[in-house]
Amino acid sequence: MKITFLGTSHGVPAADRFCSCTMLEINGARYFIDAGAPLIDILLRRGVDLDSVRAIFTTHIHGDHTNGIPALADLFSWYFKTASVDIYMTEQRGIDAFSEMIRTVEGGLDEARVRFRLMTADTVYQDENLRVTPFPTRHLADAGRPAYSYLVEAGDKKVLFSGDLSQRLEKGDFPAYALENDVDLMVCEMAHFGVEHARPYLEKCRAKALLFNHVFPLDKLEKINALDGAFGYPIRTLEDGDELTV
Ligand SMILES: [Zn+2]
Ligand SMILES: [Zn+2]
Repeated sequence: MKITFLGTSHGVPAADRFCSCTMLEINGARYFIDAGAPLIDILLRRGVDLDSVRAIFTTHIHGDHTNGIPALADLFSWYFKTASVDIYMTEQRGIDAFSEMIRTVEGGLDEARVRFRLMTADTVYQDENLRVTPFPTRHLADAGRPAYSYLVEAGDKKVLFSGDLSQRLEKGDFPAYALENDVDLMVCEMAHFGVEHARPYLEKCRAKALLFNHVFPLDKLEKINALDGAFGYPIRTLEDGDELTV
């Protein structure tokens, strides 16, 4: 599984960072965790074959994780007519709003090729390349709205994406899966809690490598990178364009 970090910023884009968006490539098919970056523009600039796009999994409804979806869905619907995608969103009203926006601006939405789907805590996506399993987080719990971490399994490899967590690490919002199971890689946010709050979990984390994105404020970057090796596995921060293979 090749992973390319297309957007690594926190809630607001920066001069050199788009908001959250990560591309996974497996056997020529492409999948995305979050689409807060201008995804269709990035794919076209990179010369990506749009017919290789298979599915997008958003962790929650916030714009820094979903703002790239309307433009991609719009263009897939009316222009790139051989493209086809499943777009998982966490709330029906988000699906309704984005669908209605495209119908409004284009006069229609090709729902056979642009398939908005509701992600729930019971949803498991599986095809011949990978399996994606959601785990609820408390990021939007105060508002009574869902948010998820995602476990991505491809062959014998496991990668855990934290999604956005909450300020309640002390109440157990660090993804339990990475504390109870070996994972080849964990990609974790670092905007809603301090580096020191994460430390007890990093000590127990069973990831073989831990990468941080969605970092705010940026003076945490230095503190995070200083943790490299402190717990027996590599730790580092991510930048837009970073690539790795798991
Ligand atoms: Zn966010
Ligand atoms: Zn959020």
